[in-house]
Amino acid sequence: MLPPERTVRQRMIELLAETRLSAYQLAQLLGIPERQVEDHLPHIVKSLVRDRSRRFVLDPSACSECGFVFRDRTKLTRPSRCPTCRSEAVSAPRYGIDSGKAGKG
Ligand SMILES: [Zn+2]
Repeated sequence: MLPPERTVRQRMIELLAETRLSAYQLAQLLGIPERQVEDHLPHIVKSLVRDRSRRFVLDPSACSECGFVFRDRTKLTRPSRCPTCRSEAVSAPRYGIDSGKAGKG
C-alpha cells in the first residue's frame, strides 16, 4: 500500500494531465487545503524533470490591472502584488502536465 502523500501526488498528476488548473481548483478536486497543494507541487515538478514523456507547465500569474505577466517567477505560488502597478489583483498561476516529445533523440 502506498503512503497517502504519494497517492495525492499521483492524483494531482492525473488531474493535471493535458489541462490547466489553479492550486485552488486542485484543492477543490482533491479535497485538501490549497496550502497542501502548494506543498506537493514542487515535488511533482521534481519528479517530472527526468520524465521524458511528460512535462510540467506553468501558466504564469498576470496582473489584471496592467496586464503584467510574471514570466520570470520561479515560485509556483501566486504573487501577492504586481511589481509594476502595485495592484493586488493578480491572477493565480495555473499548472498542467503536457505529454511532450522526447526532445533530442
Ligand atoms: Zn499591474
